[in-house]
Amino acid sequence: MSTMRKTKIVCTIGPRTETYEMLKTMACRGMNIARLNMSHGDHGWHAQVIHHLKRINRKVGTTVAILLDTKGPEIRTGDVNPDIPLKKGDSLTFTIRREAVLEPHCVEVSYDGFIDDVSVGDTILVDGGMISLEVINKTALDILCRSLDEGLLSSRRHLNIRGKSAALPSITEKDWEDIHFGIAQGVDFIALSFVKTSAAIVELQDYLQARKAKIDVIAKIESADAIPHLAEIIEVADGVMIARGDLGAELPFEEVPHLQEEMARRCRQAGKPVIVATHMLESMIINPTPTRAEVTDITWAVLQEVDCTMLSGETATGKYPLKALEVMDGVARRTEQRQQLDLKVRVEASGKSKPEIARCAAILNNNLQAKAILVFTRRGLMAVLVSGCRPNAPIYAFTNTSHVRRRLAIYWGVQAFIVKFSRAPETTICRALELLTGKNIVAPGDRVIVVSDILAGGRFVETVQVRII
Ligand code: PGA
Ligand code: MN
Repeated sequence: MSTMRKTKIVCTIGPRTETYEMLKTMACRGMNIARLNMSHGDHGWHAQVIHHLKRINRKVGTTVAILLDTKGPEIRTGDVNPDIPLKKGDSLTFTIRREAVLEPHCVEVSYDGFIDDVSVGDTILVDGGMISLEVINKTALDILCRSLDEGLLSSRRHLNIRGKSAALPSITEKDWEDIHFGIAQGVDFIALSFVKTSAAIVELQDYLQARKAKIDVIAKIESADAIPHLAEIIEVADGVMIARGDLGAELPFEEVPHLQEEMARRCRQAGKPVIVATHMLESMIINPTPTRAEVTDITWAVLQEVDCTMLSGETATGKYPLKALEVMDGVARRTEQRQQLDLKVRVEASGKSKPEIARCAAILNNNLQAKAILVFTRRGLMAVLVSGCRPNAPIYAFTNTSHVRRRLAIYWGVQAFIVKFSRAPETTICRALELLTGKNIVAPGDRVIVVSDILAGGRFVETVQVRII
């Protein structure tokens, strides 16, 4: 029996991983969440992947959750044909004129407001900095730039303005179409791209609630404008993704590690799950082995005790999707094995009984070196609270709905199972222990911690128990 990996892995699905067989292999080798990136593929393609994933969960017994990632107000260049080679000092014009494609060194921009957002002196980044250009002049329709680097400008490239966020709504028309699709398909999470304040998150949450869609909303932090609003965003969001790609384009890249550390800490304090995303094993898109710097990056994220690390192009379009997953899994396990997961006892009391019960379970677990923590939870809340304490042993959550089971896939150290809830809690606990022994996760003689209701004088009382199986 291999021990549970506590840090979860999000894998972006793409042409390299779209088949039933590939998805099944990824699910069996540790993919916890499948990410569908709505910047690519049509609804038919995504529906097919979702169909495969649901079938795999049913047939293989895996718990892969589905995360729909919106495109958001992404700014892209139009088509150029042929590609435009740029040398340092060359001029290039970005235009919102629609007939400009034939002019040399002129490229269309997908969004008209770009003209208003950009000022003379700004730096425009192509594909997160593969080419940088300085804005020299602008007219009502054109932005004249000078290239600061050498590079090749191809079609449909992603644009950022350093230090600025586009004045676009966080949820575009296309995003709403994709959100409708996600509701119809019953995805577990929706990640909102380029959020700037809590408003867009609340808007989507209200919308989902009105439609009785049980979907958690993950805020992608990648806008310069989001940084002053981190506290309110973390407070309302159901989770956060540290989208380091765009974040390191809108802000100087040297800020990214510090923002990652800050967001990981704040999410932890708020009990919200956090995903570290982008470039984690970027070189494995073309190479079968990671750079040592990438290995170190994953190690850092695991040491920060984030809930998830993410693979993007590595699994979507890269040459070595399974190797990338294997490397991420192996590096996380190695780090967790070495990591001293001392329970961080917070000084200030929460004043609420559920978080204190969770903390008790974690303290008992660590001080008694128990093998596992079993949590019985209908809505998942108690498992989330125990996860937030980052105890040493794996947390096995028992719930009675497959939606809650999948939703728990994002949380650090939690593996969830379905169990039939009996009116007598002891019966439910026995069923769960049978399930775990049947899977060789625990064995007779092991000490475990149990968080469950008991029936006392006709009333349910929340308890933390120490048991020898
Ligand atoms: P993306 O978001 O992959 O959707 O662009 C992640 C990032 O910007 O890092
Ligand atoms: Mn992005």
